[in-house]
Amino acid sequence: MTLKEILIKLFGKIKAFFIYLKDIDLGNYYPLFFTIIFNIILLQYTFNTFDSIFYDNWVKWDLGQTRESPIVVITLDEESEQFLGETYPYTYATHLRFIKELILAKPMIINSFVNFLDPTNSVEEKYSENFKSEILKFIESGGAFRFSSTGDSLGEQLPPESLQEIGYSLGVLARDGESLGKDPVIRRAIINISGEDSTHLWTAKEYLKLKSESSPEIQGSYYVRESDASFSLFRYFTSPLERGGVISIPFHRVVVGNYPENLFKDKIVLIGPKYFSDSTSYQETPFNPNKALAPAMNIHGIIIHSLINNKTVAEIPLIFTKIMSLLIAFFLSYLISRYQPAKGLLVAITLIIFFVVSSYIIFVSTGYWLRISHIILSIFVVYYIWVPFRAIVEYQTRYAIEEETKIIKRVDRLKQNFISLMSHDLKTPVAKISGIADLLNTQYQNEPKQKELIQNIITSTKELNNFINSILDLTKIESRNLNLNKQSKDINSILEIIAKEVDFDARTGEVEIEMNLEPLYPIEVDTTLIKRVFSNLVGNAIKYSGKESKISISSWDDDDWVYIKIQDNGVGIEAEDLDHIFEKFYRVKNDASHKIKGSGLGLYLVKYFVELHNGKISVESEVGQGTAFIVQLVNA
Ligand code: ADP
Repeated sequence: MTLKEILIKLFGKIKAFFIYLKDIDLGNYYPLFFTIIFNIILLQYTFNTFDSIFYDNWVKWDLGQTRESPIVVITLDEESEQFLGETYPYTYATHLRFIKELILAKPMIINSFVNFLDPTNSVEEKYSENFKSEILKFIESGGAFRFSSTGDSLGEQLPPESLQEIGYSLGVLARDGESLGKDPVIRRAIINISGEDSTHLWTAKEYLKLKSESSPEIQGSYYVRESDASFSLFRYFTSPLERGGVISIPFHRVVVGNYPENLFKDKIVLIGPKYFSDSTSYQETPFNPNKALAPAMNIHGIIIHSLINNKTVAEIPLIFTKIMSLLIAFFLSYLISRYQPAKGLLVAITLIIFFVVSSYIIFVSTGYWLRISHIILSIFVVYYIWVPFRAIVEYQTRYAIEEETKIIKRVDRLKQNFISLMSHDLKTPVAKISGIADLLNTQYQNEPKQKELIQNIITSTKELNNFINSILDLTKIESRNLNLNKQSKDINSILEIIAKEVDFDARTGEVEIEMNLEPLYPIEVDTTLIKRVFSNLVGNAIKYSGKESKISISSWDDDDWVYIKIQDNGVGIEAEDLDHIFEKFYRVKNDASHKIKGSGLGLYLVKYFVELHNGKISVESEVGQGTAFIVQLVNA
């Protein structure tokens, strides 16, 4: 094979591929393609701020927790300072008085978040010694005590050396600077730092030990290498704001013994500062972030409560959310591509509500946190990609339908014009033929065979005339050119005229007509149309009844209606045909009716004319027994 041949072949293949591409309808796939691309882009990002909005609300409306708490907070604040006339952290003498009073109230665990300073003189040192020995006595008698050291950028701030042997651990609040919201809101607790339990965990463990319960399980805790610490998101059993559920009492009221009895009995007592002037005393929480700050001591209490009750939060792996959002994108794409945009919107909103509610329920019932921002954004993306596309397609179809209707209308008008012209032009020659045949029949001597043939011409022209009349009526109806010309008329008189008109046909067909007319009041009708109705029904009865049959025409009335019944004992109509006989051009197809001529328009026009008078028509028929049509006209 030469190079030229190879090139030609290759070119042929490429061309074939493009032809193939052109043939597949890409129009239906490109929104799906965009959906996938956008979703994959979405999955590259995390939406912490958006997620934290949901998270904070779940925390705020957390119904899955007990409000009963073993925690009481004692605060060193401006009020105590004024009352005692001392400045923070107060003298050891005061603390000695305080601790004696507190121990008398039999607390279970005492946790001091006060930043004690080294004693400055020998008197203070003495008080400090006594303070220490009171605490040691408390521990000996079965209580638990711990100092909480605080930490800042300069490192840990430890209690004075003399007090250190009592025991201390880190008790700081961790802002959410690098996890969920990347904001100063307190959502996570430090569980353990450099291998040592935080004050919170120590206290929770101690409490459960003293209550002879098993150690807390910390659901969802995670290790951060940079700070060599374990953290866990925790749940707030109550609002940490001033008016929230944490019981709190100022320091000086304990010093003077002014507190409710049993307030501290078997409780975990946290002692710490709450100064408006101190920025660390108040913190932001999921409860109204930015606006109301919550006392840090209350938050410490809430963390301990959540550890005791195993109410920490575990995050459901993000990969789960991502897979979920991709699946939903496909599902929603499928739905929107198949159903109307309005339905798509409904499904999208329902899905969003479903995930928001599910995430909340999972959170409060199990403590698992499902991030839903990806899912929600993916629903939005799918919706906004597909809806315009759907709208365009819808618009195109509607436009095509409109155009088609316009053309159909035009063709219809042409058809009607043609038919009406044709029919009018046919009427005159038909009338002429009929006139000549009549003349031949009456004015000339004819042989019997000639007479029969002329009679044939007369019947055929009559049939042709009927047919033309029906077609003209139909064109009038369809072009809405039909005006009712109502006048007051006794229906019986119309029925009698018709009976006379068909008399000849009846006699030649050996059909007997029986009239049974009750006296009626005249009613408002268009005589021409109503005459057409009954002559059609009576004509059919004669046509389809066969020789030696009997037709009865009866009429009667009540307050609302005039009833006209036309009954025959002819062939009858099968049930399946009965449902259709009033349709345009419908004719029953069987051996008996095969020979009988007709257009299939008669009953359609009958029904139309009756309904034009606000009347009704019904039919009952039994094969071999006969048929009865009942017409009801408004009696007014
Ligand atoms: P056509 O021009 O065929 O008479 P119609 O609309 O008047 O059209 O009637 C529709 C069909 O209903 C007829 O083909 C006929 O078979 C049936 N039909 C109408 N009236 C009767 C009747 N009195 N007895 C039996 N069949 C009837």
